[in-house]
Amino acid sequence: MTDTTPTYSGPMRVFSGVQPTGNLHLGNYLGALKKFADLQKAGHDCLFCVVDLHAITLPVEKGALVSQTRQIAAAFMAAGVDPAKSVIFPQSAVLAHAELAWIFNCVARMGWVERMTQFKDKAGKDAERASVGLFTYPVLQAADILAYKATHVPVGEDQKQHLELSRDIAERFNREYGAPGFFPLPEPMIQGPGARIMSLKDGTKKMSKSDPSDLSRINLIDDADAIANKIKRAKTDAEPIPGTVEGLEGRPEVANLVGIYAALSGQTATSVLAEFEGKGFGAFKPALAEVTVAHLAPITARYRELLADPEGIDRVLADGAERARAVSEPVMQDVRRTVGFWGA
Ligand code: ATP
Ligand code: MG
Repeated sequence: MTDTTPTYSGPMRVFSGVQPTGNLHLGNYLGALKKFADLQKAGHDCLFCVVDLHAITLPVEKGALVSQTRQIAAAFMAAGVDPAKSVIFPQSAVLAHAELAWIFNCVARMGWVERMTQFKDKAGKDAERASVGLFTYPVLQAADILAYKATHVPVGEDQKQHLELSRDIAERFNREYGAPGFFPLPEPMIQGPGARIMSLKDGTKKMSKSDPSDLSRINLIDDADAIANKIKRAKTDAEPIPGTVEGLEGRPEVANLVGIYAALSGQTATSVLAEFEGKGFGAFKPALAEVTVAHLAPITARYRELLADPEGIDRVLADGAERARAVSEPVMQDVRRTVGFWGA
């Protein structure tokens, strides 16, 4: 990948997580999963986590976590992550996450966490009734990364602010406990036209698993007809496709569709616009549907195959949990000693 910070030297360790909160969508794929596979192929040491502790910050349907956890693990593999090379595991199976999150809750400052926009978006108007967990979610995220002393975190653009917080927490821990360099300052890897895919119904809102409208997103499990139908019904405007990127200004829905086309076909937005300049959506939308289906069909097919074998997924998760514990436990021993707990 080209989006690693060129100044970083030393061994890289990659960590990223996805919540088992619903249907994975094109945004998750382009913003995160596709990069996971690329980083693994580049030979990096990678851990990919199904973050079920994050999922319970909002209400979860009774009994849904197990199957949703398997779905995310299957999607990692369908997108090209090989469990023999990368560690795939459920967050709740490794106690280090919760333990380090508590310690980090005592390192992070209220003012830092209060600035996080995701809490404001997810808590909505009634923040008083949101769980405390939803508020401290980004602190747990810092613990997820740093329990493995991970150095690089491939995520979508929506996670940029949380990654900055992780760096602040690592830096303050190192300073407070007189342990310079104890935790690395993790680098976000946010790049490409797929780093921020917007809702098909509102170009100012990101595509989300938790959006109540299924028409707002393209799910990895959608078949060709569903994809074509959602693209057909995607919000646009009455103007034709502009010839330049500047012409997309003030047209967020159109910019999003052009961005998706560019990301999936491996072109720049400029070359997509050159091809479709002056055409209407009657021409553009079927072309976009075709590119989307062609790209996703093999991934979807593999995803369905993997889901048909839940025991196989469980074996991957159990093995991954063991490997994740083996990496995080020595880090936690050092953390306990550094903080100065009895017996450490
Ligand atoms: P939720 O609505 O439950 O928060 P989500 O769709 O935001 O779900 P997450 O599990 O929170 O998904 O995020 C998983 C990964 O997908 C993260 O790296 C996140 O940055 C990335 N991601 C999420 N939405 C998008 C998007 N619209 N475009 C690009 N990347 C995204
Ligand atoms: Mg999210």
